[in-house]
Amino acid sequence: MSTAELVHIPNKEGYFGEYGGSFLPPELQKIMAEITEEYNAIHESAEFQDELKDLYQHYVGRPSPIFHAKSLSKEAGGAQIYFKREDLNHTGAHKINHCLGEALLAKKMGKKKVIAETGAGQHGVALATAAALLGLECDIYMGEVDIVKEHPNVIRMQILGARVIPVSSGLKTLKEAVDEAFTAYVQDPVSQFYAIGSVVGPHPFPMMVRDFQSVVGIEARQQFQEMTGKLPEHLVACVGGGSNAIGLFTAFLEDEDIKIYGVEPAGLSFKDGEHAATLTLGKPGVIHGFRCYLLQDNEGNPLPVYSVASGLDYPGVGPEHSYLKDIGRIQYETINDKEAIDAFFKLSRVEGIIPALESAHAVAYAVKLAKTLPKNESILVNLSGRGDKDIDYVTDKYGKNYGIE
Ligand SMILES: *Cc1c(COP(=O)(O)O)cnc(C)c1O
Repeated sequence: MSTAELVHIPNKEGYFGEYGGSFLPPELQKIMAEITEEYNAIHESAEFQDELKDLYQHYVGRPSPIFHAKSLSKEAGGAQIYFKREDLNHTGAHKINHCLGEALLAKKMGKKKVIAETGAGQHGVALATAAALLGLECDIYMGEVDIVKEHPNVIRMQILGARVIPVSSGLKTLKEAVDEAFTAYVQDPVSQFYAIGSVVGPHPFPMMVRDFQSVVGIEARQQFQEMTGKLPEHLVACVGGGSNAIGLFTAFLEDEDIKIYGVEPAGLSFKDGEHAATLTLGKPGVIHGFRCYLLQDNEGNPLPVYSVASGLDYPGVGPEHSYLKDIGRIQYETINDKEAIDAFFKLSRVEGIIPALESAHAVAYAVKLAKTLPKNESILVNLSGRGDKDIDYVTDKYGKNYGIE
């Protein structure tokens, strides 16, 4: 592949190659066009960028550090593993980066309320936080199954002043929550702003969320160079919708020598319904208003998906990732539940860092990769979030195997 092929900016209709676009009813097309226009304007505005930068620094705690995981690297016995510590952000993950951007845009557009779906509750908590800070109302749609599973995050959202709306249709998880939030949005797209939680959905969201997350890679590039005098040879991040991955990768896409890996969840097996390895096993299709690789049945309906990491179980994936796969710039790999749980305990016990189960997929792959590489090469991993949210679930279900009664 040559970097000349790379398109960072989707075309006017929001396409990265053949992926992306906007498949919506006409009344919503009009609203998306308004959001695109407003976003393009503020993206260029020093006032908006300064405001966001100030929040990143003084509210989120950016820049997040880079940490050389020496013990983990030594155990792997090959390349050096480094972590970009997005787990140290306020609210504990990378999602606050785009939630602040989206909420700030909503406010500038005169919207009264931000709404969103949430699966594990991470996007909901980050958005409820941004809404509280900026004085916006916030409605979060969440499947009833997830409400039970992710109880602490439900409480967090309510403490932050958000309304959590239970969704009882279908499997009562993320996909149904998106459907319901979408229905609510269509009813009033003027006073509400639908803050999408990853680099998915209709144009301009994949581009906009990518831009807000790209601060991760911009910082990392400079920090890594200052720390080591060079750039990393390899980058690794987990891919649900793909926002933390594209956030790290964007600043390095043009460095052709740097190998980039996105890690998808292989769940329990590669049988339908037991994984969410969209780029690995999906085919192009349309979901939630955009075109991407999609895990789908013969009629093009999304298949049920599963991963131990709730933040990764989405049957679609960002259009830019779909494009970067096709041109061969990024290699997409998989890690299963068991490997992710192993990595969760390994990182906790070797480095004293409890990672989110989502991030544990990236850690597991990085350790596998490190073993195959010489000691003088480096792997930079996006540690997208911390694992506090996962500790009860992990110890109940897997604790016995790791010496916890
Ligand atoms: C939501 C989440 C993810 C997955 O979302 P992406 O858009 O693929 O980044 C990964 N890690 C953490 C900690 C999350 O909360």
